[in-house]
Order: sequence, then structure tokens, then C-alpha cells
Amino acid sequence: MANKSFYEKGIRFECQGTGKCCTSRGEYGFVYLTLQDRKRFALFFKLSLSDFTKAYCEKKDGHYHLKNLSDDCLFLKDAKCTTYEARPEQCRTWPFWPEVLNTKTWNAEVVGYCAGVGKGKLYSAKEIEDILKSQKE
Ligand code: SF4
Repeated sequence: MANKSFYEKGIRFECQGTGKCCTSRGEYGFVYLTLQDRKRFALFFKLSLSDFTKAYCEKKDGHYHLKNLSDDCLFLKDAKCTTYEARPEQCRTWPFWPEVLNTKTWNAEVVGYCAGVGKGKLYSAKEIEDILKSQKE
């Protein structure tokens, strides 16, 4: 659960393109897809929604996610996302996920492998809250 006091002064983040967040790690092993995500991917691949879903998705507990064919996301090639412009919300909103925005999880799960933390743009508390809110919609 996000802790407001953790991000009230804002957080600097700019993706450094390492691809590390696209690799399965424990509980963060799935790339979940909203309907909007599947529609964006379908357009990207020039497929119908149903063909994209059949080819690339599986369902777990009622939620679609990209098929897990290996430890890496199936769209990760040479540490780069091959579908970057069509990447899903889950990827767009990293690292502003409710479950990691607290000191304990941030230090244990994010700082160590995400090279983008502490770099680039300073996201204000308001911007972070807007990103958190967008994940509930
Ligand atoms: S869709 Fe792209 S950005 Fe998202 S996990 Fe897969 S390779 Fe990474």
C-alpha cells in the first residue's frame, strides 16, 4: 500500500532502458493487461482484439496477462522492449505502483535493480497520486 509520507517531497525517476523491470522477479512475475492495453497491442500488431488475445494472453484469477514463456517478458529482446510505444499501463506507471511506494518495499525491491530511480524528472506528490489513481480506473 502506498504511503503518502514516503513520496510527499516527490520522487525523481527516468527510465534508463536496462530492461530489468521486464524480467520476472518473485511476485512481480506478470504483465497484466487492461482492455485498453489489449486494444493498443492489437492495433500495434495489426490484429483483431481476439486474435491478439489468443496469440499473446492468458488469464489468471479473471485478469488477462501476457503469456509467461520465460523469465523475461515475451516482448523483451536484447534488454529492450520491442513494443515500447504500445506497452501496457503496468509498464508505463512503473515505479509508481501502490505496492512499492513505501520505504521498506522501495528499498528492498526497487532501488537495487532500477537504475532510473533518483534520476531525471522530479515527479511531484500530485503527479504520483494521479498515476496511482489512473491504475484504479
Ligand atoms: S511490454 Fe515492454 S516494457 Fe512492458 S514488461 Fe514487456 S518488454 Fe517490458
